Amino acid sequence: MISLNEVKEARERISDIIHVTPILKSDQLSSLCGNQIFFKSEHLQKTGSFKIRGASNKVKQAVENGAKYVTAASSGNHGQAVSYVANKYGVPATIVVPEDISQCKMNAIKAYNGKIEICGTTSAERLPRAKEIAEQENGVFIPPYDDPFIMAGQGTVGLEILEQVQDVDAVIVPIGGGGLLSGILTAIKETNPKIKVIGVEPEIANDTHLSLKNKEITSIPATSTIADGLRSSQPGDMTFPVLMKYLDDLVLVSEEEIRHAFSFVLERMKQLIEPSSATTVAAAMHNKLPFTDKKVVTVISGGNVDLGKIYGLIS
Ligand SMILES: *Cc1c(COP(=O)(O)O)cnc(C)c1O
Repeated sequence: MISLNEVKEARERISDIIHVTPILKSDQLSSLCGNQIFFKSEHLQKTGSFKIRGASNKVKQAVENGAKYVTAASSGNHGQAVSYVANKYGVPATIVVPEDISQCKMNAIKAYNGKIEICGTTSAERLPRAKEIAEQENGVFIPPYDDPFIMAGQGTVGLEILEQVQDVDAVIVPIGGGGLLSGILTAIKETNPKIKVIGVEPEIANDTHLSLKNKEITSIPATSTIADGLRSSQPGDMTFPVLMKYLDDLVLVSEEEIRHAFSFVLERMKQLIEPSSATTVAAAMHNKLPFTDKKVVTVISGGNVDLGKIYGLIS
């Protein structure tokens, strides 16, 4: 497991690349939820999501150790983050993407000079290919979540929350493979274990919920949740033990609840966030949090949405 110290080291390592993102607040949302709700606004982060934190921590460390090439397998935010950071450090990056990748995600990767290779439709096809290219090119494969440097990088979100929101009572975090959550848990629980940390998953992508219930990693079949950053079929070997140790609670949200939260944030708060992030707002709005009258930070993990898809996300 990673330690608080590794998260602090990550913060030093990536401070020249990332934004310290703002905290937003909505009184309307707060009164609707019965809790004081703050947004940790990673949709305003460089490349449009928190993924750049882990990616820059990992890529910088790899480059310092002589890496001349990096690869990643990602349909979205991780791929953008890795290509951005590789470009920054002057090493070439190849991102292996699925056949059905959206044009806007493809354009974003290309804009950062990342090379794109299209391979199959599942991560089971993409992952081995990205590792193979890394091997052929004498490079380093950058995993999306199951890696100590990635987890520590994502954990820097937690350190910023502790400084930006005095006396925070609870932090709500979306769960894909668990990199973001395991990093934030380490930062927060090893600083102040009284602060509650709650994970959120879509009902139809409940692999971590099942894994915690079974007390072992449990996988689910491919899912089509609109929260496309949370579609991983199981939690990671490295992330899961951190969740087992520290996580206070996990709540599930329906697709309709995610749409509702997405619409609220766009219409009332004028913020474009992606459905993966709307899950944390949905948990608060639909009264799924196990408390009221608390100071709550919902982690808005990203804001990358294909403009053409927005209408279909509104409820
Ligand atoms: C990757 C991602 C997540 C999930 O992060 P994990 O570290 O895989 O749990 C959540 N939201 C967005 C926007 C993402 O890109």
